[in-house]
Amino acid sequence: MNITLPMRVWFAELLRRRPSVGIAALAALLLLSASLGHEGLRVPQMLLLALPGLIWLRWPVRSPPWRRLRLFGVALLLGVFLLDGFLRAYLRQRYGAVPDSTLVLTAAANTSPREALEYLMAQGAQWWPGLVALLLALGLLLGLVRLASQQPPRPLGTGSRWLWLGLLLLCCVAHASKPWRRHHPVAFWPHWAVSVETLRMNWSDQSRQRELLLEQARASGVRALGAESSTVVLVLTDSVNRDNMSLYGYQRETTPQLQALSREEGARLLVLPHAWSVQATTVAALDGLFSFGGSMAAQPGSAAPAPGHILALARAAGYRVWWMSNHDDLAIEQQHAQLADTVEMINREPGRSSSMLDGELLDSLEEALADRSAPRKLIVLHLLGAHPHYRLRAPEALRPFEQGGDAVEREMQRQQRPVWLREQRQDYDAVIHYHDGVVAETLRMLRRHVPAGGEAAWMYLSDHGQEVGHSIDHAGHSPGTEAGYRIPAMLWRTPQAFAPGSGQQPFRADWTGWTLAELLRIEWPGMEPARNVLDPRYRWEAPQLPIGEVDFAR
Ligand SMILES: [Zn+2]
Repeated sequence: MNITLPMRVWFAELLRRRPSVGIAALAALLLLSASLGHEGLRVPQMLLLALPGLIWLRWPVRSPPWRRLRLFGVALLLGVFLLDGFLRAYLRQRYGAVPDSTLVLTAAANTSPREALEYLMAQGAQWWPGLVALLLALGLLLGLVRLASQQPPRPLGTGSRWLWLGLLLLCCVAHASKPWRRHHPVAFWPHWAVSVETLRMNWSDQSRQRELLLEQARASGVRALGAESSTVVLVLTDSVNRDNMSLYGYQRETTPQLQALSREEGARLLVLPHAWSVQATTVAALDGLFSFGGSMAAQPGSAAPAPGHILALARAAGYRVWWMSNHDDLAIEQQHAQLADTVEMINREPGRSSSMLDGELLDSLEEALADRSAPRKLIVLHLLGAHPHYRLRAPEALRPFEQGGDAVEREMQRQQRPVWLREQRQDYDAVIHYHDGVVAETLRMLRRHVPAGGEAAWMYLSDHGQEVGHSIDHAGHSPGTEAGYRIPAMLWRTPQAFAPGSGQQPFRADWTGWTLAELLRIEWPGMEPARNVLDPRYRWEAPQLPIGEVDFAR
């Protein structure tokens, strides 16, 4: 005897009297799958995006063909949401990664259908419980949709009419918002497939480009001078504005550890007082920073051939190069990171919602510093720094400026900055405070690992600045104001101290390669000492920024 039959009869009777029970059960099922695959606010967003299916089910539909169409349409739509939740849950559980992370995109682009099948066969034991759960959930969903859509149409009471109208409105808002709509599985997965395909196509290009850069570097005649062993650490951060560092005179004490190091180290540590980026966004800034002003191809009007990429030059001169990063960015990985011998990307979530703290990279740094496989080492540490969202860049408990009421707060009040912006500034300064500890620790670690009888150097700078109510009512990247370009830059080396008075002229981040070459003690014909801020022949040239007249010595 089929024992599910009486259950179904009972449930059908319940639905006949209370049609919303079936819809509530469906909503619960969707909530379960959304919370398996998504986190935080994204969960209710996904429910709102799935809402049209539920609203359609409750709509009194009379004509049988329409009801059949509804059954099909709703089952398909809600089924897609269920699949989305389960697939994401699988990726998260297995790899700790979201589908559009570099890890997953790269793996997908790297895999042929045959390999994918082999992988699934080999991993069978890992995923079959999930598959069974998914099939059960899909069966339950289908059954619920069928039962709900078989009910005779019942008109809505006044109360529930308003309720459903309210839900419909919320659902319209969800679909109107582009950042929400992007996560609709029907939009997300086709876009994901296109990303994978584009990546696959770009790869052949990018790896050829990297081969060319390495070849060009080998042919440049580059060579290493100086001691047999040398360790250079480049700490490249994101979105840090020097105006928010007490090291640079900010009124909130945001950088006590760097200041302490500065006092301890004296002439070995150089703070560049007037450092500027020439780009206000990451990818463009890094392009210039690593390739001597973005001159991947020869600059128009310049007689000198393009110097290429500083990482390629370092390798050609005998350096072993590490790239360790808390960014999850395909372009950066392909254009720069993959030029290194060892690449370590610890972050599995792209974009601003990523919550991995920079301090997580310190273990990797320690490992690279302790590595004895090469006498010459260049270690690039790419931090998320103070990239929005600020609240995700420091531990939740660290909020030293939340009290407000200090000189910074008063100044912002005087400038009539709104409350939300003053709060953003408090969060931003808290991030700088956390960042101070991470950056200072990288230098302290390097000091413990200076090769015996060799040299060591350290450079710290930000890719670009950040506007947090410095001159306008805005928090974020800012190509249109000075705050978008005002960056910190610091240099340290041993045993040779810096010449007194060096680095006092303005410095531009797209000339970093020239200064880094000096710290690496590498040399090739056609170098431009006029662009190395440490060289006595240094000659400042103001960059063209889209912000009008700028006093670069400020
Ligand atoms: Zn950036």
